[in-house]
Amino acid sequence: MDRPLVAILSGAGISTDSGIPDYRGPNGLWRRDPEAEKLVTYEYYMADPEIRRRSWRMRRENHTLKAEPNAAHRAVAELERSGVPVRVITQNVDGLHQLAGLPARKVLELHGSARSVVCTRCHARGTMEDALARVEAGEDDPPCRTCGGVLKSATVMFGERLDPMVLGQAMAVSKACTVFIAVGSSLQVHPAAGLAGVAADHGARLIIVNAEPTPYDDRADQIIREPIGTALPALLRTLSEGARVREA
Ligand code: ZN
Repeated sequence: MDRPLVAILSGAGISTDSGIPDYRGPNGLWRRDPEAEKLVTYEYYMADPEIRRRSWRMRRENHTLKAEPNAAHRAVAELERSGVPVRVITQNVDGLHQLAGLPARKVLELHGSARSVVCTRCHARGTMEDALARVEAGEDDPPCRTCGGVLKSATVMFGERLDPMVLGQAMAVSKACTVFIAVGSSLQVHPAAGLAGVAADHGARLIIVNAEPTPYDDRADQIIREPIGTALPALLRTLSEGARVREA
């Protein structure tokens, strides 16, 4: 891994302009609706076929897969293309950073991806698109094609642990970066939130771009409250211009 210069932790706020609501945050849709939260809680999902059927119906109806990247996602991809080493650590499962053109290897998806499915028994993976096509065709709880096990979205459900490998890489990036930008994250969901503190502890310049105050504001070198869709592209332009000046 080359030494990352800019680490970007992105949360739900970066994707609201793409029409994706905050599902997972402290005030997210799931936390406010206990019945909906069951659909994404591992224990209930595994124990109850009815929960799984409702969960597949919910996935069919939600529009995450149809969402398009917005100006903020594009600005991050642009920064990478300009030659600045970038790593994105995201709390989002929408895959919009990659759709905007950021290479997948530069994105650490802490909560997995809603664009894939995974078997809970043999860990075989497939695309959500294919699984939803099976639901559409009448399989209301499609099993794994390899082993017949329970299939789920490749996202980290409530009651599941984050992938230690992904978390370890996120930790390493946070320690090594020189600038850490937390964008659209309330910085209240751990362990993701703690990465901002880790970066600051290791000497990174901490920049927070979020409409609301966060628990890490007092550690930030810069706080930006303006809308992400315009504020992030402006901020990243100054970073890439700064990098060019240093090269010259
Ligand atoms: Zn399987």
